[in-house]
Amino acid sequence: MKANRIAVIDRDLCNPKSCGLYLCQRVCPVNRKDEDCITVSEIDRKPLIDESLCIGCGICVKKCPRNAIEVVNLPEKLEETPIHRYGKNLFSLFRLPIPKTQAVVGLIGPNGVGKTTVLNILSGSLRPNTGVFETEIPWQEIIERFKGTELQDYMGTLAKEKIKTGYKPQHVDLIPKKWSGKVKDLLEEAKGDKDVVSRLKMEEMFDKDIENLSGGELQLLAIAATIMKDCDFYFFDEPSSYLDVEQRLRVAKEIRKLCEKAVVMVVEHDLAVADYLADYTHILYGKPGVFGIVSKPYGVRIGINTYLEGYIREENMRFRPEPIFFSRRARASDKDKLFLQFSGFEKAFESFSLETEPGNLYKGEIIGILGPNAIGKTTFIKMLVGILKPDKGEPLKELKLSYKPQRVVLKKEEENMKVEDYLKERSEKISDTESKRILRFLGVERLLERLVGSLSGGELQSVFIASSLLEEHDLILMDEPSAFLDVEQRLRVAKLIREHAEGKEIPCFVVDHDLQFIDAIADRVILFEGEPGVKGKANPICTIGDGINQFLKSLDITYRRDPNTGRPRANKPGSQKDIEQKNKRQYYYME
Ligand code: ADP
Ligand code: ADP
Ligand code: SF4
Ligand code: SF4
Repeated sequence: MKANRIAVIDRDLCNPKSCGLYLCQRVCPVNRKDEDCITVSEIDRKPLIDESLCIGCGICVKKCPRNAIEVVNLPEKLEETPIHRYGKNLFSLFRLPIPKTQAVVGLIGPNGVGKTTVLNILSGSLRPNTGVFETEIPWQEIIERFKGTELQDYMGTLAKEKIKTGYKPQHVDLIPKKWSGKVKDLLEEAKGDKDVVSRLKMEEMFDKDIENLSGGELQLLAIAATIMKDCDFYFFDEPSSYLDVEQRLRVAKEIRKLCEKAVVMVVEHDLAVADYLADYTHILYGKPGVFGIVSKPYGVRIGINTYLEGYIREENMRFRPEPIFFSRRARASDKDKLFLQFSGFEKAFESFSLETEPGNLYKGEIIGILGPNAIGKTTFIKMLVGILKPDKGEPLKELKLSYKPQRVVLKKEEENMKVEDYLKERSEKISDTESKRILRFLGVERLLERLVGSLSGGELQSVFIASSLLEEHDLILMDEPSAFLDVEQRLRVAKLIREHAEGKEIPCFVVDHDLQFIDAIADRVILFEGEPGVKGKANPICTIGDGINQFLKSLDITYRRDPNTGRPRANKPGSQKDIEQKNKRQYYYME
């Protein structure tokens, strides 16, 4: 039977001792009328909610001191039972995306609404239970459920045979924990098309130890190893994090080739890349951690626009109260508010040299840093903050700096810490009103009781960003804050950092490869150019329009803006728009 309401209890967060024993049960108005809406499980001695008795008043949700309960109404239009539910009062997934060959299928939506669950079902490693978890459902019944749909044959195959799956996980930072040794040894083990390594320009990392790889190198390694496997079904969870724009487009081309012989699904939060990479897209929506619904497939442009609109017209389903619109927000520098002048720098390593220009930094402004990987962006930041000694130039002195590196490598003892304690070690004021607002806005408040080592990539990124904002500082430096965040989180982070910088008149440097994110957050830009891994040159600070246009000119790529959503879309090389924009030198920014 279809339930109208869904109740989820986070069993890790719930601790009945913390509320004086089963406060939820004591306050529930249904229980108070002597009905068993909330009972206590015999197995783990934690509460269970009977969704058919619950009236959705939300009292238990508000009262639980651990924020362990969610009670939400399911959309009225949702008429079916779930495809899968992990158990009583656990996450439910409704509907599945349709695997296709000869086309790349994209999945877009927030983190926590079931992408990995989809992967596990379609790869055959999780048998869907159609919401019945007391007994195992026979395959025949599952296939029956898909009768007459495009998924019927696929489910029939899943029931009979094993599907060979290639999976590129989201959180590539975990690779060095599982693999050691040299890159070439790992790649040597892989069978299949070895030329992909040269097409992805990975030769330079062959002799490196896996533990010393940068985020971008780890990402390339994970992608190449997945592509080289001979599989029937490939699933790439965020292939673009840590890659520069050129690498993102190069990787997209390689992934596209796989769909000639196999099913390919991709989760991607950089919408410009998703647009370039996928032919179709399903939207995943719902309430993270509670339920997820997979939409029907759309052509990629319409799918992305529908997702941004937050409204599925044919089903009359609004899944987000507000549409997302990408607007440009750069402000002119307030010349009366000079914060500091920084010097130019020079630095030469054995095989890489860097030269940067001096500049003025104004209070409250955000400087975006753009350029390919291995061009010296991190080296510049490190010299500026005094972590690395320059050959020439003066590091900033007597300033309290808050620095979020690209990859925060956690120590063993940090992994075993509660998020709350991890943050307390970095800031004394995690419970003042302003800090609470930041934690809530970033979704970190509900993670405070979790262990740092148990968090997903996106959750960890939010904790690191929160930590940078809570630490005492006069200047913020963030290296790739968008990695692992979904589209909505990226825009929220951009808004939060901007408000923080403006409100406190604190300047901020942000290195990022997501142009939409840089567009949403930065006032001005420093563009790094040169030959990656050999020689880098940082140009003087310029306007965001000049910076992005010059950057894309160097890559020979033009973007147009979608008229409905304002989002940038890559033009096909040689198309009329591409030629027109190149002639006018409008690679991204129009007049
Ligand atoms: P996504 O990949 O979109 O982030 P997932 O499919 O990993 O989402 O998970 C969706 C929800 O299902 C999460 O809230 C997660 O906690 C829950 N979940 C995932 N696996 C299990 C499991 N084995 N048992 C119970 N809950 C699970
Ligand atoms: P980006 O941040 O633009 O990706 P980096 O500043 O991290 O680039 O690195 C630029 C180049 O300098 C890379 O080729 C990198 O291998 C090299 N490099 C960085 N740090 C060192 C170091 N401590 N010793 C030698 N080479 C280094
Ligand atoms: Fe207490 Fe919350 Fe657990 Fe209920 S869910 S027993 S209120 S901690
Ligand atoms: Fe009880 Fe449901 Fe209200 Fe919670 S939301 S107090 S379970 S009726």
